[in-house]
Amino acid sequence: MGSMHRSCVRAVDLGLPAIAFTEHLDHTVWTVAVEGPFASDYLTGLATPEGRLTPPRFDAYGYLEAIEECRDRFPGLRILSGVEMGEPHWHAAAAAEVLGAGRFDRVLGSLHCLPLPDGDGFTEPPGQYERREAVEVVREYLAEVVRLVEGSDAFSVLAHIDYPVRYWPQQEAGPFDPSAFEDEFRHALRVTAQSGRALEISTRIPLHATILRWWHEEGGDAVTFGSDAHEPLAIARGFREATQMARAHGFRPGPNPYDLWARVN
Ligand SMILES: [Zn+2]
Repeated sequence: MGSMHRSCVRAVDLGLPAIAFTEHLDHTVWTVAVEGPFASDYLTGLATPEGRLTPPRFDAYGYLEAIEECRDRFPGLRILSGVEMGEPHWHAAAAAEVLGAGRFDRVLGSLHCLPLPDGDGFTEPPGQYERREAVEVVREYLAEVVRLVEGSDAFSVLAHIDYPVRYWPQQEAGPFDPSAFEDEFRHALRVTAQSGRALEISTRIPLHATILRWWHEEGGDAVTFGSDAHEPLAIARGFREATQMARAHGFRPGPNPYDLWARVN
């Protein structure tokens, strides 16, 4: 049984009415950590000895076929197809080609990588924190989110706007405080809201409630929930707290289990 089947089994066990598979779709060649706390066997296995990783080609047809098999096998579960596109504003043609292969119900746009300041390729936040000031990394991340939202119309949900917070170097920089970046967060949220997109509440780490409040204040109309599970046991982790927080900030579920949560006030 493949991991998509196991994920469906888990979703049924949890009593979830719907599940969306947002498979990673990456085109940015980036440098991964080959040692230290953020090194991953999976990623280093795909990378050169120096850590340079060229994402493998995404098999859109195979993926959509696997979705259909899951739908046949789990008729009581609403199964959404989807992708999480990394940096689609840098790879418009490649992103469009994949989306043209079939129906993708939920398309997330995400920013994982930033260019290194010395022009030496791209890394995720941990590699950025090693080379520049922590506040500069977050500011640069949020500025690039604006370019992502303005530079691509291929996606409808902005994934994990708090991605660099996962790796925030607390020992050197102290606890993460979103208010130190209020202007930058608000600007990125406003641009996202004005583009008509939804905000993903990723539960990999809890989203700071202040950021959700700013989303509402800046005109955000919808939210969605993502557990960034990567394995069946992690599906829907943190959803109880995340949905409570969304309700407290004026968002409610739609009539269908696969709807985004919409703003009610
Ligand atoms: Zn992501």
